Amino acid sequence: MTNPPGERRVLLNDFAAQWREVGPDVHAAVERVGASGWYVLGEETRRFERRLGEAWGLPFVVGVASGMDALEIALRCLGLSAGEKVLTTPLSAFATTLAAMRGGAVPVFVDTDETGLMDLSLAREALRADPSIRFLVPVHLYGHSLDLAELESLAGEFGVAVVEDCAQAIGARSGGRAVGTVGAAAALSFYPTKNLGAMGDGGAVATPSPEVDRKARALRNYGQSARYVHDESGLNSRLDEIHAAILSTALLPRLEAWTGRRRAIAARYREALRGAAVDLPPVPEGSESVWHLFPVLVDDGRRDDFMQHLRTRQIEAGVHYPVLIPDQRALRQYGRWEVRGGLSRARRYAAGEVSLPIHPHLSDDDVGRVIEAVRDWRCGC
Ligand SMILES: *Cc1c(COP(=O)(O)O)cnc(C)c1O
Repeated sequence: MTNPPGERRVLLNDFAAQWREVGPDVHAAVERVGASGWYVLGEETRRFERRLGEAWGLPFVVGVASGMDALEIALRCLGLSAGEKVLTTPLSAFATTLAAMRGGAVPVFVDTDETGLMDLSLAREALRADPSIRFLVPVHLYGHSLDLAELESLAGEFGVAVVEDCAQAIGARSGGRAVGTVGAAAALSFYPTKNLGAMGDGGAVATPSPEVDRKARALRNYGQSARYVHDESGLNSRLDEIHAAILSTALLPRLEAWTGRRRAIAARYREALRGAAVDLPPVPEGSESVWHLFPVLVDDGRRDDFMQHLRTRQIEAGVHYPVLIPDQRALRQYGRWEVRGGLSRARRYAAGEVSLPIHPHLSDDDVGRVIEAVRDWRCGC
């Protein structure tokens, strides 16, 4: 079937549709902050931190300026210093590794498993082989949860400080527990495309530890522990009141419904795309995913053809991620990193992953169009 001309594009993210839903509540939040006359680190930030902590089940949440800052601050709170090794995944947003680099660390990479997430048995081997690795930054990629019991046991057995990168996975669970609750700290991003996406940058550190909470509060504010007292060189990384207000009264209250919609779309895709010419990668065992992205895999060399086909059907798609982190020039220039073993499974994702639209404002009709387009694809290569 060919497209009627002028057919509405199916977008990867539909911020205009989100605005139609949240706009009035955002206006009210802005009005509240404007009238309060208090714009940085005030009551709105405290309230949002409290509400997010309640929703997440973690006692301490510290609002910061971005997800990347949240990772850096969490690592530094746990004692990261220059030259320390940080075990992480080669398949993620570059920010995951960049945060460790900013702390002066040596990133160490192991391959993913077939789900695209860090292979925790390879992580175990790396930790066993090298006791100088004292930090672990696993990523709950695509909105899936890694095996949290296994993460917890790695932390206990090897005494590593775990910072869970939850930027894509707020609300995801595994074994009855929420991501972010087994590490010493967790990092969250409110970048607009994320499941709890604000209208600009923002992030948060979450932790069960009052000590990490105290340090993170200092580090986000120039390392200030009391007024005009700087015991550490911190960052300027504060979540401002406008964003805290928007997040707590316009966005966070909708997250559960939005996640439900993402899950319904994922279930429909997984049912309807069986037997299509793309592979549906497995989901980590036990993961109750929040489907930040919906990854499919196509064979090496066919991605351009598939994406071109989707474009002719007015469907936008993405790639997460086309280049592995250890292949990035910025890391090469930094000069310090280690790769343990081959990265062939991560490379399969880098070569063949395509993310289909799965945001909560897709209509049933949009989802049907994506399914039909994927099912109709035969590689012209
Ligand atoms: C988005 C993202 C980050 C970085 O968050 P920012 O708010 O953009 O700094 C880190 N890790 C992962 C997995 C992400 O998806």
